[in-house]
Amino acid sequence: MRAANGTFSALGTTIFTVMSALATEHGAINLGQGFPDDEGPDDVRAAAAKAILDGPNQYPPMMGLPALRQAVAAANKRFYGLDVDWQKEVMVTSGATEALADCLIALLNPGDEAIIFEPAYDSYRPVIEAAGAKAIPVPLSPPDWSLPFEKIEAAFTERTKLVLLNSPMNPVGKVFSRAELTRLAELIVAHDAYAVCDEVYEHLVFSGHEHVPLMTLPGMRERTLRIGSAGKTFSLTGWKIGYVTGPAHLMEVVGKTHQFVTFTTPPALQSAVAFGLSKGDDYFAGLASSLEAKRDLLSAGLAEAGFGVLPADGTYFVSADFRALGFNGTDDEFCREITVKAKVAAIPLSAFYSTPGAPRHLIRFCFCKQDAILKEASARLKAYAKGGAA
Ligand code: PMP
Ligand code: GLN
Repeated sequence: MRAANGTFSALGTTIFTVMSALATEHGAINLGQGFPDDEGPDDVRAAAAKAILDGPNQYPPMMGLPALRQAVAAANKRFYGLDVDWQKEVMVTSGATEALADCLIALLNPGDEAIIFEPAYDSYRPVIEAAGAKAIPVPLSPPDWSLPFEKIEAAFTERTKLVLLNSPMNPVGKVFSRAELTRLAELIVAHDAYAVCDEVYEHLVFSGHEHVPLMTLPGMRERTLRIGSAGKTFSLTGWKIGYVTGPAHLMEVVGKTHQFVTFTTPPALQSAVAFGLSKGDDYFAGLASSLEAKRDLLSAGLAEAGFGVLPADGTYFVSADFRALGFNGTDDEFCREITVKAKVAAIPLSAFYSTPGAPRHLIRFCFCKQDAILKEASARLKAYAKGGAA
């Protein structure tokens, strides 16, 4: 038989699925895969239930329900001062994962290069490669994960089509500063490249930090595709509602990839998300401050157990250095060890790197869980650490 697609046949199961399965097998608290353990806002779910009963439930417009596209355009104005034409510059997708694929396939030709920053979310590279392009990874380093401009400049070539930026950044909770982003924008403009911005955690940013969409910086409005996710903004990760904002000339092509990837997205969920995006500032501020308190709770627990806890300024995630616990092994081995022995699951950070020299001493914990769960996980890790590493 002839070989199937090389990129996808070479891939394993995602680390999130692997660790969730291991957590279930061992009855561990799952602080691996990033999903909240509450059900999301009642009013948003009630709006979805009503929309399903009231209908229509047939194919909605290909680019998304007008109500949601209008709400996304309004949110761009409200949060970032961006003027967006909802008819030509917004598209709804089945999750940010689809949005990423649509944008990358729409922009890349075989032979193009796409700069990504590692640790990188796992869907980026396979989609870039499936489009026939090459992912050019630029590794970031702990503890501050700042943009390494020398390496970035060296990564640009005349084949660089785009830069894929994730801020706030999974898995390390980095929120890139305005100064860093301004310098990155200058490089992108100078090389006449595009930016694909994965901003799914845009509303999960903690005190003292500001989310600056790259799209708002000089020269970027016409060359940026900005991606959001209702899954993160409303703690409804199973809904898979994403949205892309970009200039009309790019959105026309992105619309064409979407029409052959999913074509449309469930209308009832779209109308509920439109309602959600119109919620008051208190909702958005409350979401960030509740997660910030959870970050603090878990970070304190991890520190007490003996981990070196890194800063996390946004997202659902905090990373921690386990070397002080005396474990002699890699991050993969340590995640397996604590899942089995401490009954707490986490994700090894090296899973987000393809470059040599990935850190092997850091793991990612997800803190969007009930406080009692975070306390119990901390207590289990503390007990494990006291018992000594096997
Ligand atoms: N990008 C990043 C960085 C993520 O963490 C996630 C969440 N899994 C996604 C994209 C995908 O979002 P969605 O669930 O809306 O497809
Ligand atoms: N984004 C989620 C995480 O980083 C996982 C999503 C998935 O399982 N594909 O944990």
